[in-house]
Amino acid sequence: MSRYWSEIAKSLTPYVPGEQPKLPDLVKLNTNENPYGPSPKALAAIRREASDDLRLYPDPEGSRLKAAIAANFGEIKPAQVFVGNGSDEVLAHIFLALLKHERPILFPDITYSFYPVYCGLYGVAHETVPLTDSFEIRPDDYFRANGGIIFPNPNAPTGRALPLAGIQRIVSGNPDSVVVVDEAYVDFGAESAVALVNSHPNLLVVQTLSKSRSLAGLRVGFAVGDARLVEALTRVKDSFNSYPLDRLALAGACAAIEDHEWFERNRHAVVKTRSTLSDQLAALGFEVLPSSANFVFVRHRQHDAGKLAQQLRERSIIVRHFKLPRIEQFMRITVGTDEQCAALVSALREILSA
Ligand SMILES: *Cc1c(COP(=O)(O)O)cnc(C)c1O
Repeated sequence: MSRYWSEIAKSLTPYVPGEQPKLPDLVKLNTNENPYGPSPKALAAIRREASDDLRLYPDPEGSRLKAAIAANFGEIKPAQVFVGNGSDEVLAHIFLALLKHERPILFPDITYSFYPVYCGLYGVAHETVPLTDSFEIRPDDYFRANGGIIFPNPNAPTGRALPLAGIQRIVSGNPDSVVVVDEAYVDFGAESAVALVNSHPNLLVVQTLSKSRSLAGLRVGFAVGDARLVEALTRVKDSFNSYPLDRLALAGACAAIEDHEWFERNRHAVVKTRSTLSDQLAALGFEVLPSSANFVFVRHRQHDAGKLAQQLRERSIIVRHFKLPRIEQFMRITVGTDEQCAALVSALREILSA
């Protein structure tokens, strides 16, 4: 801290991302990246775009990308799409543009830990709503006065999904608030709420190209909802950064969205490996929450999660462990390749039998 810091800078508690160590032969299962590479068509588009044109500013609206996203969903118009530098940036604009009101916003007690960070940055009051004992969102718990609602579906870090009927219940029951569904992991097995945006003007759905499209390094995310919600986000964006998406990101993201075959193949591969991994972990005595995401959330009744994560680390396998109430005995393990998961399972087998 220094006397030059603003009161806001002093007051912040920043988000702590999963570490990105640069060790050789690391089995990195801690940040939910996709184990498979991005679409070769996306890579080719990025290479083509790396040209003399980089002297020119990119399209500030990202019009071609919005059109590609709208076309990919069908029934959605480009004016219903907002694009940003990763969904984290999209979420940040949402907190300022749509969630900052008199009343506190609501989100689950166990959820994406960036939400309270944005509340701190923008001065948004919040209340947490406990998940059930089986770590599920109960829609009726969100029927109370609020300034907005946000939750991931599937939830992170639990991996549990709320069916579309439950989301509809929350959205319909809160007509005076914006309900934000953060679908970072939806492509690995949950139902997308984009199907509800045309009939619900208070619903905003956020997605990212970081997980199911293997482009965490490119930084592209988007929101889909009523055009008036998108307009509020655009006002904040145009008061912050006119060009959040650079030329390479716009070109790569369009090509990635349009490569259906690559997308389908990789997400199904992850889902298949998740199923095998879940069975193997259960056989080792772990309780595995049913996952609709590209990670599993597990605990072992006889072994401390923090210690297990440390013992895995000693074997060059990194998983995520959160020292937080209710989940401190869980590890969140990203679904990697079959080989990476086999290495994890054999390391755990060794540790548990020692
Ligand atoms: C990974 C993740 C994001 C952020 O994704 P980016 O697009 O890479 O910024 C948002 N929400 C949740 C729940 C996530 O897990």
